[in-house]
Amino acid sequence: MMVATRETLRSWFYRPWFLAMIAAVLSASLLIAGGMFVAMRQIEQSESQEMNAQGERFLARLEQLFGQLRESLDDLEAQPLRSCDDEMIATLQQVTFNYRFVYEAAYMDASRICSNRPRQEGLSVVRPPDIKGPTYSYWLNTTTEPDENRAALMLGRGNFRVATSRGHLTDMVDLSPGSSLLVVLDHGSRAIPVLGVAQDWPPTEVWPPKSRDALQVTQTRLIYRMRTDNPEYQLVLITPRTGMHIPTVWWWMVPACLVLGAFVGFFVFMLVRQRQSLDAELNGAIRRGELQVLYQPIFDLDSRNCVGAEALLRWRRPDGTLTSPDLFIPMAENTGQIRQMTDFVLQRLLEQLGPVLRANPQLYISVNLAACDVMVPRIGQVMARLLTLHRVAARQIAFEVTERGLIDVVVARENLQALRDVGHQVLIDDFGTGYCSLAYLQTLPVDCLKIDKAFIDALGHDAASSGVAPHIIHMAQALDLKVIAEGIEHEAQAVFLSSEGVKFGQGWLFAHALSAVQFIELITRGRRLAGRRLDDEA
Ligand code: C2E
Ligand code: MG
Ligand code: MG
Repeated sequence: MMVATRETLRSWFYRPWFLAMIAAVLSASLLIAGGMFVAMRQIEQSESQEMNAQGERFLARLEQLFGQLRESLDDLEAQPLRSCDDEMIATLQQVTFNYRFVYEAAYMDASRICSNRPRQEGLSVVRPPDIKGPTYSYWLNTTTEPDENRAALMLGRGNFRVATSRGHLTDMVDLSPGSSLLVVLDHGSRAIPVLGVAQDWPPTEVWPPKSRDALQVTQTRLIYRMRTDNPEYQLVLITPRTGMHIPTVWWWMVPACLVLGAFVGFFVFMLVRQRQSLDAELNGAIRRGELQVLYQPIFDLDSRNCVGAEALLRWRRPDGTLTSPDLFIPMAENTGQIRQMTDFVLQRLLEQLGPVLRANPQLYISVNLAACDVMVPRIGQVMARLLTLHRVAARQIAFEVTERGLIDVVVARENLQALRDVGHQVLIDDFGTGYCSLAYLQTLPVDCLKIDKAFIDALGHDAASSGVAPHIIHMAQALDLKVIAEGIEHEAQAVFLSSEGVKFGQGWLFAHALSAVQFIELITRGRRLAGRRLDDEA
């Protein structure tokens, strides 16, 4: 049941349109999410910028307003009149003419109050001032009634009072709906709205906030603190956040992202389709005889005699192009076609080289195995049948496994041991590119390590003695393992490796991968290469 579900799931992952859809949906949602994030950030930034600008504008205007109120009081205090008569009324009226922001001016003493306005309701407050400074006292009108003429802010000095109206204040500061302008007193413990709606106080959990920034942004509100010259009070502007108004241009982003996502999906579709067609092509490749086996000779580094070869697959397409095994082998491993290919290599190798192997009992051919070949005992059976058929000894066929092929080491070990038991040699290919540790290596039934070409390359032209290769060589020697160096391209490398105790090598310095005919010729003539190179892939 479990296996069946897994198989169905697996098969879905091979369907191009399914993968394409996943890719499209994923990329589109990623793009949209990314875009939204940027949009939100932009909105937040513009919101803050706007609030900062508004706050500064308000502060400048309020300072102007407070300045006028104070100056008008100074004027009144400086003139000599101190009683409620017509002259006083005229003076008070004059003050309201002189100062644009003064709506009402009044004189009061113990017995009377007189004002430039006949209705004296505005300045008839007798409660103690909200702020008492050394020179001026301040009364803040807490009314929220929209009476334009009610005193919103009153200042007093001596017997004089001047006030501005709500209308004046409203003109000065264009508050948006839901906002308020507050005067904060007593070190932040109390706040009186001079304009706008009442607000919960304090607006944040800690007040004053630790941050020195003028602007605080909470979930729902923007709070702008204005510094005033007066330490007794602070002005605070509170505005509800407008909510995330996504600018309309951003709505274009969604279809744009969808289109882009569709493109990605299409691209993935084509890619998977192409891959699958390569897959299908590979399927027919064996049938159509497009696969060839080449043999790259392996040499004794001292005597420069050929001791064997590595069988390497080539895929020559009908149009003549050569596809690298690095490309099609991993694919064949994924689809399972690799088993068929390994069988093909074994069969072809014995067909082509059976006679030469019988004639040269010391000669061996090394075959690359894939991870799945190592996981089941099948190879041993196939091999045994072929060896009997062609009368070749088991020790003349070696198997190369990579470290990657040893993932399930228990199963692998058993199968490799079985191969060794009948006489095959087992080599670890591309050694050093995987994770095999020394301790791990000791537990594996292997005869030989092939040092990966990368480490031989690292030796460079002058074969400097540093690097990983010497380390691997010493490790192999300690474990009593043979060593074959892969990818030797320069004489200096061969000399150095030989001096380090490496007995065998393979590489373009000696020979490229050869066709069976070329390889047989090399063996039967018993040619010593001593520096000569044979040429590739006829
Ligand atoms: P590999 O088993 O490590 O094979 C050695 C690779 O290095 C071969 O490439 C060979 O042509 C190349 N080589 C040898 N000497 C030199 C040199 O001096 N210089 C350079 N630059 N390269 C050199 P190739 O034939 O392309 O094979 C690549 C890989 O494909 C092989 O690596 C092996 O992992 C895999 N492969 C090839 N044939 C088979 C096969 O029949 N079965 C399996 N399972 N894998 C195979
Ligand atoms: Mg190999
Ligand atoms: Mg290799």
